Amino acid sequence: AGTGRPLLVVEHLTVEFGAVKALTDVSLVVEEGTILGLIGPNGAGKSTFVDAIGGFLPQHTGTAVLDGEPLAGLPPHRRARAGLRRTFQQDRVPPSMSVGAYLRFVTGGRADPAAISDALTFFGCPDAYTPLSVVDVGTRRLVEVAANLASRPKLLLLDEPAAGLSHDEHLAFADRLRRAPEHFGTTILIIEHDLDLVRSVCSQITVLNFGEILASGDRASVLNDPKVVSAYMGE
Ligand code: ADP
Ligand code: MG
Repeated sequence: AGTGRPLLVVEHLTVEFGAVKALTDVSLVVEEGTILGLIGPNGAGKSTFVDAIGGFLPQHTGTAVLDGEPLAGLPPHRRARAGLRRTFQQDRVPPSMSVGAYLRFVTGGRADPAAISDALTFFGCPDAYTPLSVVDVGTRRLVEVAANLASRPKLLLLDEPAAGLSHDEHLAFADRLRRAPEHFGTTILIIEHDLDLVRSVCSQITVLNFGEILASGDRASVLNDPKVVSAYMGE
């Protein structure tokens, strides 16, 4: 359940790649303790939003404030230290490491061994000694999520973490994710295509379309919004 406090406040975010306007004047508040689903068609600007907030796109206009701290000008590692973490749409987990070495690498010493094994157990990941080279791609996504939650960040941005999971793994992931804000003390923004997963874990939903917010608010109001319904019916 949300605390009512605004954790992330984004105002007037605009990102251009040459002639392509990937995001236009996007303003969004993420409430502490909630899971917000960021949805929309391919190319809508969802990954660009996570890149910009994560500090991976220094060239943009607009502001982002995390828990009262302005993020402008901070590189990704400083944002991580401020309590902001993100995962990537593409698999970036290095196959040469063991699961445990990868979690120690990602947490940079900010999670003790107990916190690391707790995060792995929470997401049903293979044990710390397992080489990542023998772990399938769906499970590697879960290991990436566990690694980024182990240090208990204030905010975690997930870019399609469930891609590559089987139907049963999807259901298990949804169950775990729903409990993650309370377990880790982390607020979550998740980009996800599967509306069933979004419906089952997200209390808030924001819909991006052609780089602009089409609808934003609580789950029921957004999913019943005629603009959203017609966009998803392909009209
Ligand atoms: P989504 O994640 O919603 O599928 P993206 O944020 O990846 O969408 O992309 C939004 C738009 O910005 C698309 O038109 C995409 O082609 C463009 N885009 C994204 N990254 C770059 C980049 N590095 N250079 C040029 N165009 C980009
Ligand atoms: Mg994307």
